[in-house]
Amino acid sequence: MFKAPRGTRDFLPDEMRERRYVETCLRRVFEDYGYREIVTPTFETLELITAKSGEEIKEHLYHFKDKSGRNLALRPELTAPVMRLYVNKLQFEAKPLKLYYFGSCFRYERPQSGRYREFWQAGVELIGSPYPEAEAEVIVLAADALDRLGLKNYELAIGSIGTLRAVLEESGVKGEDQNPIMSAIDKGEGLQELLDQKNVGERGRRILMGMLELRGDKDNVISSAENLLSDSPKALKELENLKTLLAFLEEYGVSRYVLDLGIARGLDYYTGVVFEIYAPRLGAEKQICGGGAYSLAEVFGGKPVATCGFAFGFDRLVLALKKERKSIAPSASRGCLVVPMGEGMLSTAIKVSRFIRKNNLCELELGRRRLRKALGYADRRGFRYVAIVGESEVERGCVVIRDMESGEQREVEIEKLKELKL
Ligand code: AMP
Repeated sequence: MFKAPRGTRDFLPDEMRERRYVETCLRRVFEDYGYREIVTPTFETLELITAKSGEEIKEHLYHFKDKSGRNLALRPELTAPVMRLYVNKLQFEAKPLKLYYFGSCFRYERPQSGRYREFWQAGVELIGSPYPEAEAEVIVLAADALDRLGLKNYELAIGSIGTLRAVLEESGVKGEDQNPIMSAIDKGEGLQELLDQKNVGERGRRILMGMLELRGDKDNVISSAENLLSDSPKALKELENLKTLLAFLEEYGVSRYVLDLGIARGLDYYTGVVFEIYAPRLGAEKQICGGGAYSLAEVFGGKPVATCGFAFGFDRLVLALKKERKSIAPSASRGCLVVPMGEGMLSTAIKVSRFIRKNNLCELELGRRRLRKALGYADRRGFRYVAIVGESEVERGCVVIRDMESGEQREVEIEKLKELKL
């Protein structure tokens, strides 16, 4: 017996139907906002992934040398591939450029519920608008997608890495030196040591630590932040940007969120607003979406360009929906099973199935079962109709169509099956 590798999953038909339903819904929402799909390779050069996320990422990657000695890695996420593609092929397109993707990702992590070694992400990148209305739209899009999927229990948390970075800058920690600090904030460990190392003074620490505590409803958080930052003009400017964005969210009718100025998100390239969405019922692995404004094109040799986007953890989204309702996708019975009454009727049944399939889902009974057993199979598989191909009806040029829900039966001429819409 062979098992699927650790951290991977097989998806059975019922589960796939639900996953496709969720995927289709997400695609529709993304497209309704004007995003266009792109597909990038499943593996990239290792260098692309480490250029974005640092050498440490290798620990969490599936990476390998191919037969020609190229260093490659299965993609752990899709933002880097999308921005590589942008730099390679789309830099001179009209802006803003709105792209979406749906694809598998691979991370060498300890598997647990909601954490896999192969998982799927669905996300968008909005490239080329530095304005808060762009960032607001991206957040609204994520919330709208969840609402349209009918997910009820989710929590949207919005933060501002731009403000935290400005506080650090005003304390003398500039540019890339800020990154390990942001990462320590994100992980919740090692922050004090780093602040010591970078010689962040008493005032800077007080402001930073104060900011990290600020979590709650908009008005309280903003006014506390304004107090804390009263002598920090750069940080105040970032906060203003956040306020404008929040005002736009209100215009869109999005008011269900908490402001959390302590969100740092681990990655180095976030620059402005950041947001995370949690499905509290998922427990430890409850984050179903992460995103924000970032600057990455220049890391891949392109011209700097303001970008924002997000990625849904697709598997977790499906899990969250399953916690809330028994069936994710409405499953109306449909289609028709064509059952020949004996081998002699097989060739007519094939013709019947071809005719019905012109307009409908249709299967031919392939098990040579008797009618009673075939009806049982049709019932289990959720066929709405069964076409019974029996000798006496066929002699009159007809078959019997049975409605599995009502039990009603009627005769239909075989020639008319070509136009039949069930
Ligand atoms: P990230 O690229 O780390 O910001 O992840 C984006 C989203 O992908 C997260 O919010 C999770 O929902 C999902 N995700 C990340 N890692 C995994 C994993 N190992 N298994 C399943 N989902 C994941």
